Amino acid sequence: MAFKIAVVSGKGGTGKTTVSVSLSNYFQRLWGAAVHLVDCDVEEPNTALFFPEKNMRSVAPVYQEIPETDLERCTFCRECSTYCSYNAIVVLPSVKFAQVDPNLCHSCGACLHACKEDALHLYQKQVGELRHYKVGATLKISEAELTIGSAMQTFLIRELKKTIGGDSDLIIYDAPPGMSCSVVATLSDVDLVLVVAEPTPFGVHDMCLTLDLLKELDLPHGVVVNKAGMGNDQIYEVLERYQTPVFGRIPFNRDFAHAYAQGLLSSLDDDPMLKWFRRILFEIERRMPAYERVDHSER
Ligand code: SF4
Ligand code: SF4
Repeated sequence: MAFKIAVVSGKGGTGKTTVSVSLSNYFQRLWGAAVHLVDCDVEEPNTALFFPEKNMRSVAPVYQEIPETDLERCTFCRECSTYCSYNAIVVLPSVKFAQVDPNLCHSCGACLHACKEDALHLYQKQVGELRHYKVGATLKISEAELTIGSAMQTFLIRELKKTIGGDSDLIIYDAPPGMSCSVVATLSDVDLVLVVAEPTPFGVHDMCLTLDLLKELDLPHGVVVNKAGMGNDQIYEVLERYQTPVFGRIPFNRDFAHAYAQGLLSSLDDDPMLKWFRRILFEIERRMPAYERVDHSER
């Protein structure tokens, strides 16, 4: 069974996608591992852009079932709106008005059970699109993109995750930035979480929020300090207080950033970041159940 890693960050712009994409690259290059990279930032998926040589395997729309009121049958009793925990139904008996707001509906089905008049019927609304790619023999990439105007981020992430599995050694989820429900949806069922943080006051503040969430969810995790060397050392004092391991430090490197921006990840002969990522891979490997069974002498 594949080992599942989520890469998260308390705020955008910390280099979370850089780390996700780089880990996929290094796991293949150094381990020969089959990797499935999954972009869960459904509002702005960009992971696949780093692989211009990718081949599309499939693309499919994602639909959500939304109830619609049949005003011929509706008695405007308001039972459905009482049952709806998401305040998605408005019923105004005085003007014989009843409507479901598709942007608030979570397709829980409660209103359908509540209605005794059989006045609610389901219709399908497209909320996004799933795309699956392949890059060479050992890398799969999957992403979902939310339809403009839809607010079904968590629903779409769950639908995306249902399609992930199969024969990969590792699944790497590139989480949405921040601390939203979408991040929690991404974290369900993962084995390990990497928190990418910058050593700046804002970076430390947002990292602490993420660490609090991970403790609440009781998920194994560690921190990767990106752009290490800038800011100050406060982040390491905070991590000691949280008793959170540092999986690695990644200093800013202009050559790497330039090559990375052009999608040259796999062709870097003289790789300036290799030694920094080796440490991160080692920390991940130590936490994998198969670690004891692997021959480490070649790595
Ligand atoms: S429960 Fe049924 S009948 Fe009552 S307001 Fe809702 S849709 Fe209309
Ligand atoms: S399906 Fe659930 S969320 Fe949607 S309108 Fe009905 S009760 Fe509300």
